[in-house]
Amino acid sequence: MTRYWWSERIGPGFTHGYEIEPLFEQRTPFQRLLIFDNPQWGKGLALDGIVQTTVGDEFIYHEMMVHVPVQGRKEPTRSALIIGGADGGVLRELLKYDSLERVVQVELDEAVLVACRKYIPEICGNWKDPRVELVIGDGARYVKEARKRGEKFDVIILDSTDPIGPAIVLFEKPFHEDLAACLSDTGVAVRQSGLPVTMPKVMPFIQKRFQDVFDKVEVYMAPMPTYGGEIAFVAGSKSKGVAFEEPSGNFEGRYYNRAIHISSFCLPTWWKKLMAEYEDDGTIPIETPSYW
Ligand code: SAM
Repeated sequence: MTRYWWSERIGPGFTHGYEIEPLFEQRTPFQRLLIFDNPQWGKGLALDGIVQTTVGDEFIYHEMMVHVPVQGRKEPTRSALIIGGADGGVLRELLKYDSLERVVQVELDEAVLVACRKYIPEICGNWKDPRVELVIGDGARYVKEARKRGEKFDVIILDSTDPIGPAIVLFEKPFHEDLAACLSDTGVAVRQSGLPVTMPKVMPFIQKRFQDVFDKVEVYMAPMPTYGGEIAFVAGSKSKGVAFEEPSGNFEGRYYNRAIHISSFCLPTWWKKLMAEYEDDGTIPIETPSYW
């Protein structure tokens, strides 16, 4: 298979160039899927021209998405809900917890999951684990139905694409109300909230949506080289008493550890300014390369 240079638009007039060997390409019912190999970052997944994950730096993102909410809870985490996450990295990190009895993963696009399981198994968690319930479908519809059933989860992790295409519904108010209704009283919900350096409105917007439904909302960060800078995570809980900024356990990952947990909530001044000055008219900020 020939190698060629492929570039991802990161910001206006700014791209990341990758020399890639395309391993698999498909137009799924929802998006364009590309699995590639690159000398620097190894194998990776791109959806609609946006890099979702690479073997080279995925551990940073997946460890911070999982261990901050789980280690941030005082009680053992018994149930978790993942929305999106077809590359399986969030599932992999969650299944490291023996306390976990049930993990529901709701992924819209089965083709992405099948391609990741075949071409990037080193990132994937084990979907055959008896604790895992895999639902192929829309995450917004799932939480709406789960709310009616009175289902509750200790940790909810939103590992969706940015606010474009099929993921837009996951940024709307009704979804956040259903999401909060599915979180246990001592639970923690977290979602990736974009890169403030190239998407300055997404993090403040999500902070507002979380503040609509959670009494406690905090933002934390981690460096993600292939995303183009520091990624923001917004976390929320129903009670101010859930001090999820403080790690309760001693888990240590390749990136995550207690000091990283605590320091990740120390935000740069300009992020605080972005949130303080954000004029929220409820519209979802579309700040993604294909719109520049
Ligand atoms: N870590 C990546 C990032 O930060 O951009 C996200 C990785 S994961 C592959 C994103 C997944 O969200 C995709 O597989 C996509 O199909 C899924 N997704 C998008 N909209 C969805 C929806 N409404 N319900 C469930 N999954 C959805």
